[in-house]
Amino acid sequence: MAADEKKMPSEAEKKFIDAIVEFYDEFHESVDTEMIPAQRKLEEVQTLLKEPTIKIDFTDDTGTTPLQHAAFRGKTDICQLLLANGADVNSRFHDNGYTALMFAALSGNAETTRLLLEAGARTDYTNSVGRTATQMAAFVGQHECVSVINNYFSKDDLTPYIKIQGVDTEPRLPQELVAPLAKMINFANLHPVKLAFYLQENSGLLENSKKVVRTLESLCEKCMKSRDTNHVMAMKTHYFSFVVAEAGKVYKEKGSLDEWTKQLIKGRQSDGFSVMQENLIRESIKQFLYSDCPLFHQCVRSLAPVKIGDDPTALNVLSQVINGQRFFNDDKTCSTCGEIKAEKKCSACKMVNYCNQTCQKLHWSTHKKFCKSLAEQYVRIEEMKKKEEELKQKEEELKKHKEDIEKRKGEIETLVEQKEEIEKQIAEQ
Ligand SMILES: [Zn+2]
Ligand SMILES: [Zn+2]
Repeated sequence: MAADEKKMPSEAEKKFIDAIVEFYDEFHESVDTEMIPAQRKLEEVQTLLKEPTIKIDFTDDTGTTPLQHAAFRGKTDICQLLLANGADVNSRFHDNGYTALMFAALSGNAETTRLLLEAGARTDYTNSVGRTATQMAAFVGQHECVSVINNYFSKDDLTPYIKIQGVDTEPRLPQELVAPLAKMINFANLHPVKLAFYLQENSGLLENSKKVVRTLESLCEKCMKSRDTNHVMAMKTHYFSFVVAEAGKVYKEKGSLDEWTKQLIKGRQSDGFSVMQENLIRESIKQFLYSDCPLFHQCVRSLAPVKIGDDPTALNVLSQVINGQRFFNDDKTCSTCGEIKAEKKCSACKMVNYCNQTCQKLHWSTHKKFCKSLAEQYVRIEEMKKKEEELKQKEEELKKHKEDIEKRKGEIETLVEQKEEIEKQIAEQ
């Protein structure tokens, strides 16, 4: 569509945009407004999509497409629906050159951002003032989205590996592993238990672990030796190759990762710290082949003086190097697998979070030794919070009291002045 074709949206198109916007608002309305059931709105969007007068990528008076509206509101499910119906992820008719990816990045919704990347969103496009989606997200402090975009690995990068090359008789990577492998490379959570869960679910990666490891090693080499070296990706692909190799060995021997996962979760007697996890990650860093990589040096420097069990852990250091600060600021991290936004708490101590019951059950054999003392700690923290609250309240009362006194003083002064004035008047009479 040429720019001069841009026109005001039709009534049907306006209704369509409204349905998308309202779908979003449903989650943000206050209690006294009538709630619009999300499901009904989704159905409305679906119905409107079928209308022949609505073209999926029509633009409104600012050049914004429905997909961009949905992306800006972080509505992953609507974006998914629009993309499935052929919406152009890279439409560029917006007045300020914003793309759907830029809108998603601004929204701060990492899931929406990831979805658009998976749909082929270009990361190199710039808006009318020359900013990419990453730069825009960084500018408004949406660091999770910055990390998602920076570490995004496209499935296309695996295409060379599914072709039969040279004297080979079979491709280096089976076609059906492209999607699960690309998805794994895109993980922001590097926790070995999370990887173990994922590998177990995608056992093809374990059955072909040697091929997967070779592919990852080759990607790592490419990251280090190409003209545009990508140290983050090199560290990441190397780490994954190491974990897949270890898991592959276990899987070959035992036919499952269950036991290995349990060992990874198990904490030591004294403080519940998982030594095996720490050693696994430290070993993977040690085996990184490219000694001229500055990130490798950063890892070694950070970890060399740290005793096993002290902070920072190898996982923290590696995550920081690969993802930035991400894992340091979140207090809702699953104690078992490192996923963020883990909302479930241990009901006894309320001091540890989990994704779900599975994660909690797996952690219990370690956690049960510390649950009681953590519960006591929780009580102390709560008491302290309460005391602080009381103190704050008292301080406020005192402040108000002082202000009252000042006010009274002023009043008295005025009265004294008035009295003197009257006495003066009497004396003069
Ligand atoms: Zn978990
Ligand atoms: Zn507990």
